[in-house]
Amino acid sequence: MNLKNKHVLVTAAGQGIGRASAIAFARAGATVVATDINTEALATLDAEDGIITRKLDVLNDEAVRAVVAETGPFDVLFNCAGVVHGGTVLDMADKDLDFAFDLNVRAMIRTIRAVLPSMLERGDGAIINMASVASSIKGVPNRFAYTVTKAAVIGLTKSVAADYVTQGIRCNAICPGTVESPSLQDRMRAQGDYDAARAAFIARQPMGRLGTPEEIADLAVYIAGATYTSGQAFAIDGGWTI
Ligand code: NAD
Repeated sequence: MNLKNKHVLVTAAGQGIGRASAIAFARAGATVVATDINTEALATLDAEDGIITRKLDVLNDEAVRAVVAETGPFDVLFNCAGVVHGGTVLDMADKDLDFAFDLNVRAMIRTIRAVLPSMLERGDGAIINMASVASSIKGVPNRFAYTVTKAAVIGLTKSVAADYVTQGIRCNAICPGTVESPSLQDRMRAQGDYDAARAAFIARQPMGRLGTPEEIADLAVYIAGATYTSGQAFAIDGGWTI
């Protein structure tokens, strides 16, 4: 996919899927604004051609607008920021649920509101939202807040797609299975027995391995340039939902 002359905003680009995607967009020819709250992580992108970095907390509406005003307008927005909480409907703390909604859902609404007007002016834009197969696609045990909020991401994706499909805007969601990333490593360590936790995560992927951030990044690049698709939830899950 050739993304030459495309200007791309990526959130949560400091590590994991966001970082791999910033690099993949740049290698596809785009100019990329890679953002994250973690400036040390962002600094690992300094050597990459085609990428500039900005500190951005997507929970902060003013900060989102300021970064978009300074570095936009954008042709592509990749909303990658998200958080995973454990817990069921009974043991999930309300504050964690509120935080999950703010970071996994409302942050996407903030960035979309900031970039969409200029996309509409130009009659062209691609918005990509990070969901998960743990969403309206598949119930996953002990992931109440995550599954609820990622289902909402698919809903907001379809809503934006439906509202703007006649005006040159495409809005799609990516729904990974389990992907090797720093926060997944943290979750595996937090379970006490790292090897057993890792084996359990791998066991639920029929392909017998975890996905890589680069595999998800390839799909993000594809969707950014795929001009005849909107409102779709693209599963990329090692066969988890076969
Ligand atoms: P990760 O969780 O390891 O890294 C997340 C990044 O988000 C970090 O760099 C962090 O600094 C940044 N971040 C956190 N809060 C932020 C904020 N308020 N503003 C801006 N940046 C912030 O990366 P990952 O595991 O690749 O996950 C990225 C996305 O992919 C998330 O939305 C996640 O839910 C989704 N996802 C991940 C997997 C997986 O197995 N790793 C599976 C499905 C979906």
